[in-house]
Amino acid sequence: MPNEIHVVAHPVVQHKLTLLRRKETSTGLFRAVLQEIGMLLAYELTRDARLGFERIETPLQPMDAPVLDGKKLVFVSILRAGNGLLDGMLAILPSARVGHVGLYRDPKTLVAIEYYFKVPADMHERDVVVVDPMLATGHSAIAAVDRVKETGPRSIKFCAILAAPEGVRTFHERHPEVPIYTAAVDERLDAHGYILPGLGDAGDRLYGTR
Ligand code: URA
Repeated sequence: MPNEIHVVAHPVVQHKLTLLRRKETSTGLFRAVLQEIGMLLAYELTRDARLGFERIETPLQPMDAPVLDGKKLVFVSILRAGNGLLDGMLAILPSARVGHVGLYRDPKTLVAIEYYFKVPADMHERDVVVVDPMLATGHSAIAAVDRVKETGPRSIKFCAILAAPEGVRTFHERHPEVPIYTAAVDERLDAHGYILPGLGDAGDRLYGTR
């Protein structure tokens, strides 16, 4: 289905998002809550994950039990704030593989320029989730997904905790077949590309760099 967007409206996710939005929230709490939201979003993202069966023995009898092939899943984190979301996802899916994309915005053209890209081998056998806490203008999300597509994965999803309507639109104009998972779509972007009401700069709040 083109232009798919899943807003995870679960009350626990919404409550935790409020904690992230509050300006008084400390760096330590912000990091911990972002990690928790990462776990909850990973749960939603894997709702359609393929299960295999493994012969096991319970204390009472053998059975064919469902198992995930976690190694087929790759989280690709957009540096640097993506790593805050990634940690929670890996906490519940520890055998998932991880890739990283580093991008910076050219101050004149505002175009996303890549400075780092590393993903696992054999991407054509894997399902990818590209993660970045904020889907704002959509430029870095588009550049990251463009690059991931070159590696030919089996499927791609995009996950952010917060999105702006402008970013969702721009992203889906370029990648209509990539579903977006997010906890909320906020009102709009400001003149500097920040999401309103938003939560500020996710990287700065995660690492205490401001
Ligand atoms: N990146 C952020 O960290 N925050 C925003 O609001 C937009 C982009």
